Amino acid sequence: PTWLGVMGGGQLGRMFVHAAQAMGYKVAVLEPAQDCPAGHAADHLLSADYADQTALAELAAQCVAVTTEFENVPAQSMAFLAERTFVAPSAACVSIAQDRIEEKRFFTECASTSGVLPAPYHVINSAADIDTAPDALFPGILKTARMGYDGKGQVRVKTRQEARDAYAGMKAAVCVLEKMLPLAFEISVLAARGVDGQSVVYPIAENVHRNGILFTTTAPSPHVTPESARKAQDATLTIIEKLGYVGVLCIEFFVLQDGSLAVNEMAPRPHNSGHYTIDACVTSQFAQQARAMAQLPLGDVRQHSPAVMLNILGDIWFKDSSGALHEPAWDKVLGLPGAYLHLYGKDEPRPGRKMGHVTFVAPTLAKAQQSLLAACAILGITP
Ligand code: ATP
Ligand code: MG
Ligand code: MG
Repeated sequence: PTWLGVMGGGQLGRMFVHAAQAMGYKVAVLEPAQDCPAGHAADHLLSADYADQTALAELAAQCVAVTTEFENVPAQSMAFLAERTFVAPSAACVSIAQDRIEEKRFFTECASTSGVLPAPYHVINSAADIDTAPDALFPGILKTARMGYDGKGQVRVKTRQEARDAYAGMKAAVCVLEKMLPLAFEISVLAARGVDGQSVVYPIAENVHRNGILFTTTAPSPHVTPESARKAQDATLTIIEKLGYVGVLCIEFFVLQDGSLAVNEMAPRPHNSGHYTIDACVTSQFAQQARAMAQLPLGDVRQHSPAVMLNILGDIWFKDSSGALHEPAWDKVLGLPGAYLHLYGKDEPRPGRKMGHVTFVAPTLAKAQQSLLAACAILGITP
């Protein structure tokens, strides 16, 4: 058998394992936690720290290619692996995506060809940098440069004084202060590039966040104009090419109230907003990652059905008076037209924790949206 490897044991790793196994690969997962979503599905779980050189060497020896599902994998570990096996995406690409400052610098560098800029920002290395930030950045958002996700590690600040207070309360010294933009809506563009330099780009997905966490993804985006869609896809292809990237990449864009685009951030891996591709596209983002790693031709990105995806968070598990946990009514959700339920095998539902997702596909977006509304009613989620 041919083995593929993945750094990280979360749900993205689990869905990658499933896709790669369906294609006949064996999959090894390196993850410190014994009990993890990808570990349960993998053919081999290496329970080790992400920087453990013995485990990394073992993973590299076993696998023809290794990828990451964990955005904050040490870039040095990817470089260490790359001395021993094929690694996609590269350590260099991953390290740009791990640091908002590097990322915004890179996006800015690309802007002359991509046509899209990030929000105006100022690098904050110390409290003094807040004093010198341009007035035009307020109201803004203070974000830690590294490790933030799901809106964690960021604070909205109306004034310079609020920024000073927020910075003092932040654990991270290195942050970026960015201008709060007037968003109309948010989109993401999923793309993939092969070692041969060929790229593919998926349809535009439209994302709604709630409490900083992705709530729904609708694809194709019902609000994006054909012109903005092309612009965002072209920008993504320019960026993936400039990175010399191999594998699946997702870029988040803001569509502003005046119709213009700003680039927000990128994920060097399959993305939550691309989960709909499993059930609605010819090639899912996870199968695409396996193809890129195995240096096979990239798959057809055509979306065969309109789709909406709803994230399932731990909040909807119900605890009764005796403290017993009650599973949401999956039987009712699965009774809705076009439902595909994906649960990640996590046994501790906590508020805000991603436990699974459900995708509704239908002949029309309106029908998929009807199923979504019905699911929200069943699950007690405010749509
Ligand atoms: P993710 O889980 O997507 O990685 P994150 O924690 O890295 O999220 P961002 O994507 O940068 O954080 O921001 C989270 C959300 O906050 C965005 O999806 C958007 O709704 C809002 N937001 C972030 N930056 C801005 C901005 N400059 N102007 C307006 N809204 C913003
Ligand atoms: Mg992010
Ligand atoms: Mg984001």
